[in-house]
Amino acid sequence: RAKAAASAAGASYDVVALPQVDGPMVTRFPPEPSGYLHIGHAKAALLNDYFAHQNPGGVLICRFDDTNPSNESMDFQDAITEDLALMDIVPDKTSYSSDYFQQMYDLAIQMIRDGKAFADDSELGKGDESRKNRLPSKRRDMGIQETLERFQEMQTGSTEGQRWCLRARIAYDSPNGTLRDPVIYRCNLTRHHRTGTSWKVYPTYDFCAPILDSIEGVTLALRTNEYRDRNAQYEWMQQALGLRPVPIWDFSRLNFVRTLLSKRKLGRIVKEGGVWDWSDPRMPTVRGIIRRGVAVTALREFILKQGPSRNVVNLEWGTFWAINKKHIDPVAPRHTAIAADDVVYCDVVHRDGAPLDAAVLDVPKYVKNPSLGTRKVKTGKTIILEQSDAQSVEIGEVITLMNWGNATVRDISRTQLPGTADDAQSSGPPSIVKRLVLELDLDSRDFKKTKKMTWLAAVEENMVPVELMAFDHLITKDKLEPSDVLEECLTPVTQFTTKAFADCNVADLAKGTVVQFERKAYYRLDVPYSGHDKSPMVFFEIPSSGK
Ligand code: ATP
Ligand code: MG
Ligand code: MG
Repeated sequence: RAKAAASAAGASYDVVALPQVDGPMVTRFPPEPSGYLHIGHAKAALLNDYFAHQNPGGVLICRFDDTNPSNESMDFQDAITEDLALMDIVPDKTSYSSDYFQQMYDLAIQMIRDGKAFADDSELGKGDESRKNRLPSKRRDMGIQETLERFQEMQTGSTEGQRWCLRARIAYDSPNGTLRDPVIYRCNLTRHHRTGTSWKVYPTYDFCAPILDSIEGVTLALRTNEYRDRNAQYEWMQQALGLRPVPIWDFSRLNFVRTLLSKRKLGRIVKEGGVWDWSDPRMPTVRGIIRRGVAVTALREFILKQGPSRNVVNLEWGTFWAINKKHIDPVAPRHTAIAADDVVYCDVVHRDGAPLDAAVLDVPKYVKNPSLGTRKVKTGKTIILEQSDAQSVEIGEVITLMNWGNATVRDISRTQLPGTADDAQSSGPPSIVKRLVLELDLDSRDFKKTKKMTWLAAVEENMVPVELMAFDHLITKDKLEPSDVLEECLTPVTQFTTKAFADCNVADLAKGTVVQFERKAYYRLDVPYSGHDKSPMVFFEIPSSGK
């Protein structure tokens, strides 16, 4: 199997070789406008984009598969267009299944006239039974004339018409269930967001996809491999209608542990208030994961690396976040945040007792990437440390105040916590640290054995209030079984907020900036600084493993 380098993305990994196609490649991504795109759709969209554009002259079609007005809307259509743009996918052409309603209707008539379709009472339960038992429908022998009349009745949307559906006459007893006379047209009186009430009958996916792929000049149809059984049916449709055959390439469906990838179920969580909206950072939607801090380049690398695999597995998020970390780490400026709970004030003094003058140091935003520029580090005679850091030091110990220098701990004042003094069983700290005295020793340059401490000079403009938010998976089970009730598998608490103070540079960051708070984690800024109301800035933690 030959491999092609993912050069378009400027990346150096390999993706699967494609079947040979003569002339330029034409692929299509066919979303139904029934929800926002999720990471599973991202896989389909990015693979189609990659294959279309790996050689010059290729075409990516975004075809809105809007054949079921009960699920679909203009809002979802617009959202999907935006989602593609968010992933830097620019289709060369956008089309709509609904643009072909007349053409598909005419092809259905042609199929009936050729004796390859019949009308059936749409008592679906019963139809499924006979299909399961490989028995013919009692309507299977319906003649051409009667089938035409029934189909036309369906298109009037009458009560009688609605009882019927149109089925392809393929092979009711085939070992391949998808060939057992599949339904190709159904009635639906719901108003369509593009064609209004002109149509009362709509083609099914099984009928629509092979026809439009052929008509639109698709040279390679990508499908998830759980549809592999449908390939024979797809070929049958094109053959029965005398259309150009289209080769199929299948890839594995993307699944992640503790993650729902179904527009319908995600829509339910949105509706029931389990998340803020479709772009909630806990959602596996394209906009959700980007808001959570996924770099689009990382998403692309992850998907294209998955490309060759046709095994349907339940992926761990860890792999995904590890790739993301590689993309964000080199460009994330480093900043400081100090958890606000029980923050410890420290007096910083010189050895000779001389007063310490406040200063502003200029330090690189990230030492390993000087091109990011510098940030201001304010020093001063009073600084703050986190309680847990202050707990960890002893009198006489030399510590390193990051980006400033070494200091010796000269004094520690503690306060007894109420209720813990006589409690011998208490395993927690018996007291909290109230104040430290640190003697600065900038001449000491030995940082090898010292504890590194994050700190901030305790002046107002250098203690920007922020909220650091971390999230858990929405569902408790690795994989939802069809018998599971969604509402019973929702994680009770999925959002965790820590209040903190951040350095003065943070106030200037723009929404969407990815930073690292040193010794904490990577974060993406969701709510930037608003000077007026003093409400905290909000950062979302970007996992770099597990979560
Ligand atoms: P959902 O159940 O979430 O609505 P769908 O398959 O019905 O998914 P479509 O809008 O019809 O949604 O899908 C558009 C394309 O995305 C299809 O080609 C489909 O195969 C692909 N796709 C959907 N989910 C996944 C997934 N989890 N992994 C890979 N591809 C997917
Ligand atoms: Mg679908
Ligand atoms: Mg689906």
